[in-house]
Parts: sequence; C-alpha cells; structure tokens
Amino acid sequence: MNIIFLGPPGAGKGTQAQRICAALGIPQISTGDMLRRAIADQTPTGLKAKSYMDAGGLVPDEVIIDIVKERLQADDCAKGYILDGFPRTVPQAEALEGIAHIDKVVELDVPDEKLIERISGRRVCLKCGATYHVSMLNGQTTCGQCGETLIQRDDDKPETVLNRLNAYHSKTAPLVDFYQGKGKLAKVDGTGDVDAIFDAIMKVLKA
Ligand code: ADP
Ligand code: AMP
Repeated sequence: MNIIFLGPPGAGKGTQAQRICAALGIPQISTGDMLRRAIADQTPTGLKAKSYMDAGGLVPDEVIIDIVKERLQADDCAKGYILDGFPRTVPQAEALEGIAHIDKVVELDVPDEKLIERISGRRVCLKCGATYHVSMLNGQTTCGQCGETLIQRDDDKPETVLNRLNAYHSKTAPLVDFYQGKGKLAKVDGTGDVDAIFDAIMKVLKA
C-alpha cells in the first residue's frame, strides 16, 4: 500500500510513520530526513537545500521531486511505502501523480498551540531517524534505538517554527482538498496518546 502522511510540522508524522512502517514491513520515506542526511554529507542537493531549511521555508519543488522520484524506484518500495513530509505543495502532488499510485492519504490533525509545544521539545537521532520529546526522556541524551547522541534540530528553534507553520498553512494545507477531491483522504485526530493514534491510523488503513 502506498500511503501519504499529511499534516503540519510536529503533528507526529515521523513518530507514527516509524511505527506503522515497522508494523506493515514497508519503508518510511521522510524527505526531511533525506535532506538532513544530504546536508550532513555535504552533497550538491544538501548544499542547495540548506538555506531554505534553515529559514523554515520549503526546498524548491524541482529539487525535492527529483529526490523522491529516484527513491521510489528502489526495490524496497515495491511492496508499498509511507511518504512522510512529501508532497508539501500542489505542484509536488501533481508531479507525484505521474510517478506513483497513491492508495491512501492520512491527515494528522493537531492544533497550532500543541504543535509549538511538541516541536520545541523535540529531540532527534540523525543516524536512525528516531524522534523523542524531552518530557519523555528523563534526562537521557542518547538514542534508545541506536545509541547516537540526540540533537535539537536547528529549524526547531522558536525563530524558525512560525515560518514553518506559515509554510504549512499557505502551501501544504491545500493538499487536504486536493486529496479529498480524489476520495483518498482519511483524517485522524493527532492529539491523543501515541498508541491510540497508531490504532486509529491502522483502522483507517484497513478500511
Ligand atoms: P512530524 O514528523 O509531524 O514533524 P514528529 O513525529 O517528529 O512530528 O513529532 C513532533 C514531536 O511531538 C516529537 O517530539 C514527538 O516525540 C512528539 N509527539 C509525537 N506524537 C505525539 C503525541 N501523540 N503526543 C505527544 N507528543 C507527541
Ligand atoms: P521535516 O523533517 O518534514 O519537518 O522537514 C524539514 C524541512 O525540510 C522543511 O521545513 C523543508 O525546508 C524541507 N522539506 C522536507 N520535505 C519537503 C518537501 N516535500 N518540499 C519542500 N521542502 C521540504
């Protein structure tokens, strides 16, 4: 099954995508993780993307579409995948139509006040992509999955977060109507606890 996770930054897309992918045995394709790795490796794509990401804006469509197109050709995508953080604009969604058949779009719905609290406490592992919140870490500073030191993303700092929320509302939110019009959208309340949201997503995927 080819699935899109749609929702604002901090909605829990990465947290849930990791779990659902493990449950279904399919890969999580996080464009944000791919870009952060490209920046760490100082690849040409990483160099192009960095200034946009640092400012909390979106990376140009043509850059991101090429990355996704290439990734979806890999063998591990044959049985399905979750796209986490792509598409983020109508032109990206239109380009995706020519690349892949999408079965379902899960929209994680979380109000902005809650997003700010979640994003400001987020800690991530750049090595394996695991995501944590400081409130759950009890002072732990390393990744429970791979042992790497956890970091706060530069773009999770307060000065950038509002730009990212604005980018979501102006450029990504129109995709709700785009996919609703195609009869593919399933809205899930993203404000409960992680296990309850996981169950709700599994339910809509099985429906
Ligand atoms: P996204 O990938 O949509 O940007 P993340 O999955 O990285 O969001 O989650 C953002 C932050 O919120 C992280 O710190 C994560 O641990 C926390 N988080 C995720 N889901 C929940 C939840 N259901 N309740 C409380 N905190 C959550
Ligand atoms: P994320 O990890 O999904 O929060 O993404 C982090 C940042 O990467 C975003 O704020 C954008 O700058 C960039 N990015 C990730 N995915 C996309 C995309 N599909 N289109 C444009 N920019 C993206």
